Amino acid sequence: MAGANGTAVLGGGALGLTLAYRLARAGERVTLYERETAAGGLAGGFPVMPESANGPWLEKFYHHLFRTDADAVALIDELGLGAKLTWSAPNSSILLGGKPYRLDSDPRSILALDPLPLPDRLRLGAGGALLKFLPSPEPLAGATAAEWMPRWMGRKAYEIIWKPMLEGKFGDRAGDVAMPWMWARAHYRTLRLGYVRGGFQLVYERLADAVRERGGETRFGAEVSAIQRDGDGLIVRSAAGDERYARVISTLPTRVTCRLAPDLPEDYRARYDWGEAYGAHCLILSLDRPLLPNDIYWLAIGDAGYPFLNAIEHTNFIGPEEYGGQRLVYFGNYVPMSHPVLRESPEEALARYLPGVLRLNPGFDRSWVRRMWGFAAPYAQPIVTREYAQHIPPHETPIPNLYVANMFQVYPQDRGQNYSIRLANRLAQRLLAARSVDSAVAPA
Ligand SMILES: Cc1cc2nc3c(=O)[nH]c(=O)nc-3n(C[C@H](O)[C@H](O)[C@H](O)COP(=O)(O)OP(=O)(O)OC[C@H]3O[C@@H](n4cnc5c(N)ncnc54)[C@H](O)[C@@H]3O)c2cc1C
Repeated sequence: MAGANGTAVLGGGALGLTLAYRLARAGERVTLYERETAAGGLAGGFPVMPESANGPWLEKFYHHLFRTDADAVALIDELGLGAKLTWSAPNSSILLGGKPYRLDSDPRSILALDPLPLPDRLRLGAGGALLKFLPSPEPLAGATAAEWMPRWMGRKAYEIIWKPMLEGKFGDRAGDVAMPWMWARAHYRTLRLGYVRGGFQLVYERLADAVRERGGETRFGAEVSAIQRDGDGLIVRSAAGDERYARVISTLPTRVTCRLAPDLPEDYRARYDWGEAYGAHCLILSLDRPLLPNDIYWLAIGDAGYPFLNAIEHTNFIGPEEYGGQRLVYFGNYVPMSHPVLRESPEEALARYLPGVLRLNPGFDRSWVRRMWGFAAPYAQPIVTREYAQHIPPHETPIPNLYVANMFQVYPQDRGQNYSIRLANRLAQRLLAARSVDSAVAPA
């Protein structure tokens, strides 16, 4: 068995990579395990112009930052990628009755929402402003969005705008979604959006390099199959063999960590091996011309009968000139993890989506498609019910030196790169501060 006394970080997404980087930078011995062959997890990308060396990456699932994503912005700067971070306010809209309406907090956009009678538009605007300015979600604790929103933003606005959006993301569980989560969306989201030109993958590649430059090891393509107690230490089992560590930090979903660590006791599992998550699926089309009207970047589908939740024309945010002229459009869905969509080929998905694509643009023709890709991921969206907060575990587990740190601990904010990075920053700070205390009290 290979011997290592340092820290094993499980998972090479935003959280695991940031954590490994922070620990390695402070001189800790770190080994990172990642099942996939590349860095980035849910925010990872693929080379969208494979024919050109150093061509851009595109996220497998649409990604941008908000102005409030301070931890992500600071990390991007720290890694020397700040000059690539670009900000703009692309058109975000919702499709209602076949017509796109701008969906932002600008009073003019709200007043233009003519599917709603004027008094309902005013109520929607007032409710939105209340959420934006309410400094904390505390007064909303215990309420679901389905209870609070019709009461405060009007039943019609809820039925026409919010309910379809919640159903698109949470399916049958839409009625159970906690209002504090909805507060955080309204409170922290901004009209201006950020993107790292060349793809967020650059951030994750840079992090992996930075870990290695500081003496850490990164094991990509190494799926962890068990974590076992071994005295004070822990053994990590993977395709690379069994290795012993003084500390293991799992950034995998808590449910997955529970499955990998049989020594976690029953009472811990009863409380934290809990809840549901949906998988995500995206079909990406590379087209020879634009698809959506009005240069729309983000189109939430408010109308019934579409086979996808949203259509996102990435090249209406980051121009097609960055991608050799191709127009890149995502069609996204969140579904239960057993859903067959997650195993569909891109061709099968396009065949099923075609009537919806034609509703969006009746001129669309299959000959516009130059290439297509399909991506699916499990554990992509936690179902944030009102009980959710009580089932978020602390970082420490009952197994000494085994920690959990994952995006399922992000609440009430919607999970996002920024919050995984923040969580990694805070946990690293805590672990490193404890190390200083230990060395201060250790006998000379
Ligand atoms: C459709 C979609 C759209 C999104 N849009 C945005 C957006 O616009 N902006 C934004 O900031 N965020 C967005 N997000 C969220 C963002 O991607 C995540 O919050 C963030 O990437 C989570 O990082 P993480 O490291 O916590 O988790 P993950 O990225 O899930 O990382 C966990 C890692 O663990 C690995 N792993 C799993 N099991 C094992 C195992 N047994 N052994 C070894 N490795 C394993 C996985 O492969 C993965 O790489 C979006 C997510 C989705 C799905």
